[in-house]
Amino acid sequence: MTFSGIIVAAGSGSRAGGDKQWRTLGGKPVLRWSAEALLNAGADELIVVVAPNALDRVADVLSDLARWRAVAGGDARADSVRAGLAALTCAPDQPVLIHDAARPLLDRAVIDRLLSALETADGALPVLPVADSLRRGESQVMTDVVERDGLWRAQTPQAFRRRVIEAAYSAWTDADAPADEAVVVQRKGGKVALVQGDPRLMKLTYPEDFAMAEALLPHQTRIGSGYDVHRWGPGGSVWLCGIEVPHDQTLIGHSDADAGLHALTDAILGAIAAGDIGDHFPPTDPKWRGASSDQFLIHAAELVSARGGRIVNVDVTLICEHPKVKPHRQAMRDRIAALLGLPLDAVSVKATTTEGLGFTGRGEGLAAQAVATVELPAL
Ligand code: MG
Repeated sequence: MTFSGIIVAAGSGSRAGGDKQWRTLGGKPVLRWSAEALLNAGADELIVVVAPNALDRVADVLSDLARWRAVAGGDARADSVRAGLAALTCAPDQPVLIHDAARPLLDRAVIDRLLSALETADGALPVLPVADSLRRGESQVMTDVVERDGLWRAQTPQAFRRRVIEAAYSAWTDADAPADEAVVVQRKGGKVALVQGDPRLMKLTYPEDFAMAEALLPHQTRIGSGYDVHRWGPGGSVWLCGIEVPHDQTLIGHSDADAGLHALTDAILGAIAAGDIGDHFPPTDPKWRGASSDQFLIHAAELVSARGGRIVNVDVTLICEHPKVKPHRQAMRDRIAALLGLPLDAVSVKATTTEGLGFTGRGEGLAAQAVATVELPAL
């Protein structure tokens, strides 16, 4: 069934610390989650109602999507909804889903239930049962019990045929603004169906709600591996896993030649399919001559964060006959944990020899391999 969508995103969101519709959730602006959900579910027209000074901003956030238009809203929610309704171009009988941008995790199943309900009702809204018992109180003192039988928690989107919601709003002459569209239609005599809501459709109201919504996002676990080799040459110390280890040789390379951090950087880049260390820090660029490899690792970690992900654990193996790694292993783990902001038990550094075999056994070079697991939002 085709339908139109209206997303109301004109509020100031002061309780969530301001402008919550523009904040990032799982690497994506909050507003974009709802826009994609409605468009992916088949909305053939989407009106996004924003504050008059945010029209450019919404164009940035949704620029690569089709079938949407932005209009300026008003101070009150009802004014914004009216502005959204006025911008519709669909047929009078087409269903319109009116949604709050502050509820980003909109599932297709909720949309389907709303559209089905419109076959026998004038309107529909998703609701959840009230699980906790309810109390009335004044000044932190309980004054009464509120029976929760027959009480429901209302969510959005709320669904109506265009002509029904327009007529109901035209007839709304009360001095008070309505709480939502379901109230407008129900008060004007319409039958509004309650359909099963979704706990993930929670409203982002307080700053701490963002952490809860992040936890509700579907995630996927990614694994990346990295491998690096550097040649031994004359020197007095060697950088390994972010630690300067005294040694009678050093590793030769364009940067500080820290093969451990290079392998680890590649493992993290591999987990998010973001190329390799040479793509991000070309060895031909004189800027990276003698550079500390810390910044390569930090850059890879920042790319993970930018995608709304987090590194779960890392494991590095150094392959060499000398120097002995074990005395420095704890310092290496501490350093990597600090660079990546990980707990120590998520950072492993191991070492092995190759029993005198191969280029590492002959002392020509040192090899390092690494594995990283990363959790990303499954978008
Ligand atoms: Mg290297």
